[in-house]
Amino acid sequence: MTGGQPTDGVVLRVTAVGESDLVVSLFTRELGRVSAIARGARSSRRRFGGALGVLVHSELVLARRSRGAELWNLERATAITDHAALAADPVVLGHASYGLELVRELTPAEVPDPAVLDLIVALWGALAAGPSPSLLRAFELALCELLGSGVALDRCAACGRGDDLDAGAVFDPGRGGTVCRTCAPTSRGLGVRPLPATVRHYLCAAAAASIATAAAVVVADDDRVQARDLMLAFVGHLVGKPLRSVAFVAQVHAGLRSP
Ligand SMILES: [Zn+2]
Repeated sequence: MTGGQPTDGVVLRVTAVGESDLVVSLFTRELGRVSAIARGARSSRRRFGGALGVLVHSELVLARRSRGAELWNLERATAITDHAALAADPVVLGHASYGLELVRELTPAEVPDPAVLDLIVALWGALAAGPSPSLLRAFELALCELLGSGVALDRCAACGRGDDLDAGAVFDPGRGGTVCRTCAPTSRGLGVRPLPATVRHYLCAAAAASIATAAAVVVADDDRVQARDLMLAFVGHLVGKPLRSVAFVAQVHAGLRSP
């Protein structure tokens, strides 16, 4: 078959179908998030090589099966860069899985956004140096910004003012982030919590950092935990259901702490 669409992308999720096929959820440069059937991917390892593994950035050729069909045919996949070695560290694997789950849950189908693909690949590159909470915060903040749901950090999500956020501010996931002390009394939804100035400044620094430099953004332990919890509340509000990779990371940490 000819005439497929060449692009590059990553696998977000793989589902076995029948004896020999896989359905892969992909995030691609030219087509955005698509689902495709990879015929023979289970029965013949040679067909796609390692290109459909987790944490592999691949060249892809996709063809639409029929007009209006949701499922594409994956005709070819060739690995460009293989980051699978990251999976040897369960915490790193958890962080990478979390990034993929966010992209899977938050991106609309078939809306191209090359910057999202670049962000995923940059996250994998940075994770090679080890897991980093600041890196995850920078990824979450950048992804939300790209998808039009940016977190308000240097202005009030309600009134827009940016000059009175260091005392009495709250974080309101449902309203889009920081809410100043004047507007705070009208923030009463689930997940609203105090936002200490140090936590807000830390998130501003993580948002300003590139993915490659974010791990160097330092934070006190207590602020780190608060920043994590409020960002999880923010993305949880966007996704609208519990994230599986968050439970996985928590289990890994619990396992590491046990004797
Ligand atoms: Zn306000």
